[in-house]
Parts: sequence; structure tokens; C-alpha cells
Amino acid sequence: MCGECCYGEGGIFMEKEERRRIADFLSLNLGDFLSGYTEERHGRIYAKVGADNFCIFFEKGKGCAVHPVKPARCDLWPYFPANVADPETWDNAKLACRGINRNCSFEDFVKEAPTGGTTQK
Ligand code: SF4
Ligand code: SF4
Repeated sequence: MCGECCYGEGGIFMEKEERRRIADFLSLNLGDFLSGYTEERHGRIYAKVGADNFCIFFEKGKGCAVHPVKPARCDLWPYFPANVADPETWDNAKLACRGINRNCSFEDFVKEAPTGGTTQK
């Protein structure tokens, strides 16, 4: 709910199935969803960033407006590949995300990752 992970020009890309799922959730046709909420960068479709520099789906005080169907990348956070691969990156993630238990060791964090610590795209 703090929204730190939803701030800044994010790398929240959406695969085809995710785009359809989110458009349906918002009761939009795919064209309107793509033009209103996404942008293409380097051949990939990303969630737009709003004027406040938060992800366009983030609502202050409420959180993610598409939470039940949010992109897989958001679902994965904070177990991003870099966070489970490198203790220093994980330390920085802890500064940003209060959802990470400060008393947890890096090894235990990696064990809890849905990927079991293996990296994924
Ligand atoms: S889709 Fe939702 S969880 Fe993902 S960055 Fe945007 S507001 Fe945050
Ligand atoms: S606590 Fe972590 S996962 Fe939750 S909104 Fe804040 S940064 Fe994101």
C-alpha cells in the first residue's frame, strides 16, 4: 500500500494475456486500454506512468487499482531476479520496501522466493 514499488518510470511490462486480463477487469476494450494505460518501449508494452510519477494504476490511499489481475512482474515483487541474486541489491530493496522483514537473512529471503532463488525474465 505504500506504493514505493509503484513509483518512477517502471519496468512494468505486460504480456499479451496480461493486457487482455487487465482490460477485461477495467471493462475496457483492448484498444482503449492500450491507448489509455500503456506505452510501447523497445518493442514491449509497459504500464504508463502518471503525472505524479506513480504507475497509472496506483491510487494514493487505495493502492493498486488492478490488484486482483496485476501484471506478473508486480506479483513477483520483491522477489525480482536481481533481489534474489545479489545481497547488495536486496539491501537496497529493503530500504525501499517496508514489506521485507528487516530481520530476515538474505538466504531465507531467497528460499521464500516463488522461483526458489532461480532467476527469471
Ligand atoms: S500495476 Fe499495480 S502493483 Fe504494479 S506498479 Fe502499477 S500500481 Fe503498482
Ligand atoms: S510495502 Fe513493499 S510491496 Fe508493499 S507497496 Fe510498499 S514497496 Fe510495494
